[in-house]
Amino acid sequence: MVFKNIICPACGAACDDIQVEFGEEKIEAKNLCKMGNAKFKAIISSRRLRQPLIKEGGKLMAAAWDEALEKAADILVSAKRPLLFMGSETSCEAHEVGLMIGEYLGAIVDSNTTIGNGPTAMGIQESGKVGATEGQKKNRGDLVVYWGTNPLESMPRQMSRYGVFPRGYWTKHGRFDRTIITVDPRKTPTATASDLHVQLKPNSDYELISALLTLLHGKIPHHSVEEITGVPIPVMENMLDLMKHCNLGSISVGLGLSSSLGKHRNVEIAMNFVKELNNYSKFTFGILRGHCNVAGFSQIASYMYGYPFGLDFTRGYPRYNPGEFTTVDVLREKDVDAAFVMCTDLLNQIPTDCAAYLAEIPLIYLDTSPCPTMVVSDIVLPGIIDAMECDGTFYRLDDVAVHVEPFTDSPFEFTKSNEDTLKQLFAKIKEKRNHTDFSPFYI
Ligand code: SF4
Repeated sequence: MVFKNIICPACGAACDDIQVEFGEEKIEAKNLCKMGNAKFKAIISSRRLRQPLIKEGGKLMAAAWDEALEKAADILVSAKRPLLFMGSETSCEAHEVGLMIGEYLGAIVDSNTTIGNGPTAMGIQESGKVGATEGQKKNRGDLVVYWGTNPLESMPRQMSRYGVFPRGYWTKHGRFDRTIITVDPRKTPTATASDLHVQLKPNSDYELISALLTLLHGKIPHHSVEEITGVPIPVMENMLDLMKHCNLGSISVGLGLSSSLGKHRNVEIAMNFVKELNNYSKFTFGILRGHCNVAGFSQIASYMYGYPFGLDFTRGYPRYNPGEFTTVDVLREKDVDAAFVMCTDLLNQIPTDCAAYLAEIPLIYLDTSPCPTMVVSDIVLPGIIDAMECDGTFYRLDDVAVHVEPFTDSPFEFTKSNEDTLKQLFAKIKEKRNHTDFSPFYI
């Protein structure tokens, strides 16, 4: 059977034009990039986790669903300060239940933002954000600056669907109506495809933006900035001239900006630069968020508790202090005594000492396929693939909410979705505490 307009749950672009032919252990999907194609193949993969597992004598053994859920609840209830890591490859509805479990247990609740675009979220909190949807950029945008990102490889259809090639209402000639600037120390495929590649030295983003702001204020920056950034002042002037004289420009940033020296201060000054550019033309700032629905967790956590990631509920109310209550920090300081990881391979994304501690403490893992995090887990719960096997809400990279519809049902009788699994787990946790009348802080 053929299904149309399916949303791809692989990356933040959330492409909504996927055509899927599905049936009898066979799947063919059209309009996907390679990353998306691999994600859709996962639904019939022989490697897929299809039953709960419990570690016995150092080996993961098949177990009954109720037993696995019971043991998972035991681990979380008996921990003094558990870590709940809500990976981004699931729906906002699942994130919401996870956050409520975190509040109930007095846990740390975090997500992929903490490892990826956390500094960008912090920069937004410092200086606000002038944003636009990808649709506005498609229809009006005639200048795109890719700063510290390489979408041709990391988000392959972003340029063809929104940023560069599509014909929009006021950009009828597609690529020919747009100027592309890439700011990157590396000569990436995106930089090669751009009209201007500003090849700055690594870790000099803050200095380059400061120099651009100085030029915008009508002054010439100190000549030492050429040495520090590796970018000649005439190139900066050329870049600024293009930015001042466009109709609608956007800076789309990636981890290259928020992970280089300066971190959230880079993002803060970039936002201030964008605000001042609006004195000359319309200019916006966007984040190319790589993981599917990584923006969703930040949205849900912010509307429920006021903070976008790294929430600490130890005192019964939410606290936020990146660097203290964030995943890497609580693992490095051994400040948590159990963990629940869902829909991401956390072990692969954190420093070795944190990974070693994560492997030591009782660990529950919920996901669809085996990975290093699974190997060190004590309980494994099979996951459901959102947008294919159950519906839910995702936030696209530009913070637009999209409702995803499945084209098949959950392959399991014991759960309908990751949200359902978390609700079942929450019910068991409340039973164990003999406390069923919990009402969350945000209600
Ligand atoms: S760009 Fe992202 S959302 Fe679009 S098809 Fe590729 S992986 Fe899927």
